[in-house]
Amino acid sequence: MNDRKQILVDMDGVLADVYKQFQLFEKQETGKERKPEEVTGLPEYEAFPNSYKYVNIKGFFRNAPVIEGSIEGLNYLNNKYNVLVVSSATEFPNSLKEKLEWLNEHYPFITWKQLILCGTKDSIKGDIMIDDHLKNLDCFEGEKMLFTQPHNMLINSPLYKRIYNWNEIIEKL
Ligand SMILES: [Mg+2]
Repeated sequence: MNDRKQILVDMDGVLADVYKQFQLFEKQETGKERKPEEVTGLPEYEAFPNSYKYVNIKGFFRNAPVIEGSIEGLNYLNNKYNVLVVSSATEFPNSLKEKLEWLNEHYPFITWKQLILCGTKDSIKGDIMIDDHLKNLDCFEGEKMLFTQPHNMLINSPLYKRIYNWNEIIEKL
């Protein structure tokens, strides 16, 4: 161990642009494309009623676009902190291999030792957590950083430090 702080970085909604995937899958299925402002404040399962089906389709996670700035941003954090990428994945068994391959492709500087694919995040410890879901931040004991996604945009609470993008992460951390 070293004396660096441990930072936990979420995958979906922080590294992987799952909204773009939901939009794409929905457009392929229904021909309609939902704009981000139409889904502001709605939980993902309400914004995209077939989202549960989509996340179980092969390729959903493997082909997700990366969130802008996340490659440089994660590399920056990795040089300064003990980074662990933590992702709820076991609910969707297909996602385990896809997430591992996806991470290796886009963030090759993150080693297998730095990846935690889990069920829930409530027993994961560290100093800072960056996540887009309150359910994960709320059971974390360290500093909570809320990464902005349409579903959490209306949350305004001093419990979380809101982060709008990866540039801001580099500036603040
Ligand atoms: Mg997430």
